[in-house]
Amino acid sequence: MSSEKTQKEMTDEAMKQFYDFVESMKKSLGVPMVPDMKTGDALWVDQREITLKFIISVNKIRDFFNALADNKFITTKCKGCGEIYFPPQSDCPSCKASDMEWVELSREGTLLTYTVINVKPYSFSHYDDYIVGIARLEDGVNVTAWIREKDPNKLKVGMKVRIDIVKREPEGYLTYELVPIE
Ligand SMILES: [Zn+2]
Repeated sequence: MSSEKTQKEMTDEAMKQFYDFVESMKKSLGVPMVPDMKTGDALWVDQREITLKFIISVNKIRDFFNALADNKFITTKCKGCGEIYFPPQSDCPSCKASDMEWVELSREGTLLTYTVINVKPYSFSHYDDYIVGIARLEDGVNVTAWIREKDPNKLKVGMKVRIDIVKREPEGYLTYELVPIE
């Protein structure tokens, strides 16, 4: 990163300025009402804060997450049509059946495409810029994941990559990344 401030710091600063403005408007008007910067329309700024954390059920694909801890990379295969799905699916979209089995995926493949993420969503803004790619594994399955490489000049479409199971820091949870092997 060349700039001294991270994206998170810049966003936090802009938000603080906005909320300082809301506070000053509230002092003069008695209510948290501010003009929209573009249209001048009156906006109400809610005074309560909501913390949003997604909690989603992974019950039907829990084996996938348990397998990561054993350094295994698995997914679901439809017993009916033989199709392999990634990310794992509890139901086969083409057979409309739930007759799936777990299979281990090949850990090597080819890089199909990649992109550098430098404008990050706020919840990702504490990370350095990162590169996301899509690889086609030898099983024919496509996997989208972060690439363990900071320099996009070292990547090229068609290069060999492997899947590594890694700990994403600073949160410290297991996930998978694409690693160039050339
Ligand atoms: Zn099927």
